Amino acid sequence: MTERELKENLEDVERRITAAAEKSGRSRGDITLVAVTKTHGTELMNAAIRLGVTDIGENRPQAIRDKFGGVLPVKWHMIGQLQTNKIKYIIDKVCLIHSVDSVHLMEEIDKQAKKHGITANILIEVNISGEETKSGVAPSELEELLVRAGGLDSVKVKGLMTVAPKIDGDITNTLHFDNMHKLFIDIGNKKYDNVSMEYLSMGMSGDFETAIECGSNMVRVGTAIFGAREYPV
Ligand SMILES: *Cc1c(COP(=O)(O)O)cnc(C)c1O
Repeated sequence: MTERELKENLEDVERRITAAAEKSGRSRGDITLVAVTKTHGTELMNAAIRLGVTDIGENRPQAIRDKFGGVLPVKWHMIGQLQTNKIKYIIDKVCLIHSVDSVHLMEEIDKQAKKHGITANILIEVNISGEETKSGVAPSELEELLVRAGGLDSVKVKGLMTVAPKIDGDITNTLHFDNMHKLFIDIGNKKYDNVSMEYLSMGMSGDFETAIECGSNMVRVGTAIFGAREYPV
């Protein structure tokens, strides 16, 4: 991909985020764009950062560890499945872990954060569609995680994340996104220690405008910015 193509893609995504935000009574500044750079090299990542990207997302802890030193200052987001033995690769590098889906993982993140003298900001991943292949907790399991977060002093729950099903033809993810937004609002109205509903991370290349219109304030966009990935991950 040339710098020029990258610039055009970014401008197009920016325009579409702005339009969707305005459609839902908000503005561009209310939405965080996480540019998903998985499988891409540090050169392309740095080009994107020079063009104004402030947040990048990776789905493998080893990739964050390996790329970190070669990338300009930027906020890193861990968006993929995280095994407890890999937390150490990323704990002091990322601003937000999007993909926490068990009490055990949350407790291990708390331990590692304590070791580094930091607080880890996390999102709870919800399997809103109920698809068996998807990670994330069922909505009915959310409350237990939120209650357990109250007992941890080096973890803060900052919101929710979901990966919606691949869209196919006329079927959209509006229903799933609406259901996520309802959960986000409901939890925000309740009081849990160490829990604040600041970020609703949903929407990818195929559906980020729909997600924003349904209330998302954080979208994770890869393909629409960087083109198709050569190696599926
Ligand atoms: C790869 C990935 C994305 C970005 O997907 P695109 O369709 O390329 O925009 C978003 N979220 C997660 C969790 C991912 O793994």
